[in-house]
Amino acid sequence: MIKITPLFSGSKGNCTLIQTDKTNVLLDIGFAFKQTMSELTYLGLTQKDIDAIIITHEHTDHIGALPMWTKGCPTAVYSPKNISDYICQRTYCSDITEVDGDFVIGDLAIQTYTCFHDAQECLGYRFSDGHTNVACVTDTGTVEDKLIEFLLPCQTILIESNHDLNMLKNGPYRYSLKQRILSDYGHLSNEQTAELLDKIVDGKLKNIILAHLSEQNNSKEIAFSTALKVLNKHGITEGKDVNIYVADQYKNRRTVC
Ligand SMILES: [Zn+2]
Ligand SMILES: [Zn+2]
Repeated sequence: MIKITPLFSGSKGNCTLIQTDKTNVLLDIGFAFKQTMSELTYLGLTQKDIDAIIITHEHTDHIGALPMWTKGCPTAVYSPKNISDYICQRTYCSDITEVDGDFVIGDLAIQTYTCFHDAQECLGYRFSDGHTNVACVTDTGTVEDKLIEFLLPCQTILIESNHDLNMLKNGPYRYSLKQRILSDYGHLSNEQTAELLDKIVDGKLKNIILAHLSEQNNSKEIAFSTALKVLNKHGITEGKDVNIYVADQYKNRRTVC
């Protein structure tokens, strides 16, 4: 069984704990180091218990606390190939593995999906322990068939639901930033995520974790209700057939499995 605990989620920093009975992996480490440690302590973990840190891409909200972490602990770091030099220069990493295709950490087999994002390289990851599949995809601006195929085998997905289109369009962001977020290489809107869910909810899906919500241009209620409409359309009962969780920027303390 794979357990997933979002610790922090949003533009101020992202970090997700993926666990089996034998393996503990952090996906991104983009929130403050001190708070990350206190969440891990709450979960009964120390730095040494983390077998690896896997990085999605080089934006600060995904790697911000990596230098502090690697300064104090020589944890193995897995990074997309095109950003491994960048990561190396900015951290105290002595053990960095370039991700270029499928790989294994402990009892987790891991596959990748290339996101549409304005980074040098941005990857989504799918974790399998041979029984369950869990995928995490954020920081992507396009829903394509390949993404649907990547998510279809999963019982649990952590998927971006970044902004509500109307809130973003009418919100305070400057024009160029709005265009960046709305572009094919920006972030998934609630509406795009709904379009995606529409194509996968009839499959194996049991848990949907909506993630990387914009504090300015979204609300938990709107993100939840947009996803809920998809379940209702398919005659699926939320909380019984499929659960929808909305990850918080600061405090989650909820493990999904
Ligand atoms: Zn990003
Ligand atoms: Zn991000």
